[in-house]
Parts: sequence; C-alpha cells; structure tokens
Amino acid sequence: HTRSSLVSWAREMCIRDSPIPVMVASTLVAMLCAHLLCFSGMFLLISRRLPGNRMGMDYFAVGNLLLASAYILQLLEGGPAWSLMSVINHILTLAAPIAYWLGAMRFFGRQVPLWRPLIAFAVAYGLAQWWVQASAGPAARYAMLAAMATVLFFAMTLTVIYGVRTFAKDLYGEMIFFSLLIGGICVLNALKFMKIVDDGLDALHMDSRFQMIFYIYMSTLATIVPPAIVWLVLRRLTDSLRNIAARDPMTNLLNRRGLADALKQYFNARQAAPACLLLLDVDHFKRINDTYGHQAGDEVICQVADLLRATVRRGDLTGRIGGEEFVAIFLNADTQGVTFLAERLRANIESQAIKVAGADQSLRCTVTIGISPHFHGVQGLEDALRQADSALYRGKAAGRNRIEWADVPYGVPPQPTEPAIMA
Ligand code: GH3
Ligand code: MG
Ligand code: MG
Repeated sequence: HTRSSLVSWAREMCIRDSPIPVMVASTLVAMLCAHLLCFSGMFLLISRRLPGNRMGMDYFAVGNLLLASAYILQLLEGGPAWSLMSVINHILTLAAPIAYWLGAMRFFGRQVPLWRPLIAFAVAYGLAQWWVQASAGPAARYAMLAAMATVLFFAMTLTVIYGVRTFAKDLYGEMIFFSLLIGGICVLNALKFMKIVDDGLDALHMDSRFQMIFYIYMSTLATIVPPAIVWLVLRRLTDSLRNIAARDPMTNLLNRRGLADALKQYFNARQAAPACLLLLDVDHFKRINDTYGHQAGDEVICQVADLLRATVRRGDLTGRIGGEEFVAIFLNADTQGVTFLAERLRANIESQAIKVAGADQSLRCTVTIGISPHFHGVQGLEDALRQADSALYRGKAAGRNRIEWADVPYGVPPQPTEPAIMA
C-alpha cells in the first residue's frame, strides 16, 4: 500500500458511509440554492447603488446565480448521468467560481469583461466533456470536474495569498480568511477527485458521508462568504467617504480635518518626534485671477499643489486650507532640514513656468512661507498655524517671495520684491 494517508482517509469515509437519507442531502442543497439566490439579488441591488464603480458586485450576482442554477440542476438530475442537463451542470459549477474570480478582479480595480470569458469557457468545457465521456467514460467526466475545481480553487487561493502582499495589503485579515475558506474547497475537491478515481461513480451518491460533508461545507461557505463580501464593499465605501471628508477635491491635498486626523495618528505612535509646520500663500494671487481669469487661477493652485507634493519627503503631510494657502507638516525633521525643504519649495515654485489655458505665455508666481516652531501633539496644530500665519504676514509685509520663521526671523538677506506675474 503506497497510497497517501489522504487517500485512505477519503476511502475510510466512503466505507463508513452511513445511510443518511437522500432527503437530508437534498434539503441541504435546496437551502444552499436559497442562500445563493438571496445574495445574488442582494449583490445586484448593491451594484445598482454603485454606478461608476460597481466593485464587481454585478459579477458576484452572476456567480451566485450560476452556482444556484448548477445546484438546482443537481437536484433535478438525481444521480450521475450522461445528459445535456448534466453537461450544463458541470459548466455552471465551474463558470461560477470564474465569475467570482473576475468579480474579485473588478473589486480590485481591474477592468475585465464577464460574458466573453464565460461563454468561451462554456463552449470549451462542453466540448471537453463530450470528448472525455466518449474516450474515457462517465467517471472520467466527473473526475475532470473535481480536478478542474481543484485547480481553479487552488489558483484562487494562490491569488488571494499573493494579494495579501500586493494589491490587497489593506485587507490583510480578510484575505487570509478568504484564502482559508477557498483552500478548504480546494482540498474537498481534491479528495472528491481521488474518491472518483478510486470508486468511480459510486463516490457521487448524494447520501454518502463524503457528499454530506462536501455540501455542509459549501452551505457554510454560502452563509459566510456573501456577508463577508458585503463587508468588503462597506469597508471600501466608508474608507472612500473618510477620504472625501479629509481631502480637498481640487488638489486632492488634505484639508484641515484631514491634517488634524493624520497628525493625531502620527502623534499616537509611541516615539513620535516633534513636527514643524509650514504655511504657504501665493503672492498677489488676486492679480492672476484678475488678469487671466478664475480658471487660470485654479490651474496655478493645482500646479503649486503638485510642486508642494513633489518637494516634501515621504510621510510628511501636505494640505490646502484656504483659496491659495497651503500647509506642509514635516514629521521628524530638524530645523535645518525644514529650512532646506522650505527654501527648495520657494525656489521651485518661483522657477516653474506655469502654462494655463487662454494665456499665450506661461506665467510665473512666487510664494511667501511662514514656518512655525516645532510642536508636539495634535493640540499644538492650531497654535502652530497661528504662529506660522503671523510669520507669513511678516514675510508679506517684508516684500513677499521669502521664508519667515515664527518669532526667530529667518536669517536670509532681504530679497527684492518681485511681481507676482512675470510673463
Ligand atoms: P498676497 O500676496 O497678499 O497673498 O495677495 P493675494 O492677492 O494673494 O491676496 P489673498 O491671499 O488675500 O487673495 C486670495 C485670493 O484668492 C482671493 C480669492 O479671490 C482667490 N481665491 C480663493 N479661492 C480660490 C480658488 O479656489 N480659485 C481661484 N481661482 N481663486 C481663489
Ligand atoms: Mg495670496
Ligand atoms: Mg491668501
């Protein structure tokens, strides 16, 4: 006996089959169908509430519908047989996980089609069944179904595990949970395959112990997975709501609330070093608006936002807290570092030629920057803003296009006042 213990266990299960009434197995499958259909409707309703990005919910609805249809055919069929119904049943059984897979890809933002791959699969697998039935007999066709399911769910498990490290980092717990559940289906299908290879069609009796375990597991999944998927959608939606509430729509920089939240999170960390805040205001911005129009003004704001984002270091916070007023909060930077970054920012903006629609020449603008002293804790934010603002005010009064430190004046030689627009 060179069989693996897995095979003998599966065999054991078959030998020890107790005569559980077919009625129970059928009821289980019927319940499973009811679950699948209910959640198919629910997914469809959810997807209709998500125009634009349906997060794959419409695909999941189709997946559930396909699986429910497969189980309904299973009930109607009675036992294994070579019939059109059975061929369709096998196609549906495998098409459902494919639809889920495609739905998951949609959830993670990949634009994949649904019907074309499903139809291509249906045709190919229909032909494959006909060929296997003709060349290797009925048991081989069922063995092929179990093998295909094993391979499919194994690939899904691998994808989910891969996702934990890449495209689904933010859903770590959920992905591990899903990989365990899907891994379970994979193992059960592998066992089923081995049983069919061993015992032929006898392994497929609805009232066998193994089939019971199989259907109980699937029913449990049908109960657990759909709410888990709804949870994923809810998480994504609430995350995006939080993001909307925390960001300025025009520049996608943080707003006041977003800055405060991010700062709170930073200072909650045990070894958070003091932060330093930089307030930036575009010089003579009204002139840009008056000369080139409000639209051009908006473009300047976006360009300054881009430069701000590009200048700060990873992990620093950037925000827009007024019309053309921006904030950068440097986390864990010393005075020298902040001075360097502020000066680089000022110089970058000054030298940037901004192309705006409706103007022949690109325009240039300058900014004045006020820097707060270092502060600790989110409660220091308002004070820091006030201090940076008064420094900024001083900078404006002293001729603009410069950097001013709160209290301690920044020791650069006074620069000549430059016009806001130097066409
Ligand atoms: P200063 O050098 O003293 O800062 O002069 P300024 O002209 O920039 O003065 P101030 O900062 O007070 O002007 C801000 C102007 O920005 C006033 C307002 O019309 C304009 N503004 C505010 N929000 C927006 C916006 O979202 N888009 C555009 N295009 N303009 C805006
Ligand atoms: Mg201004
Ligand atoms: Mg202003």
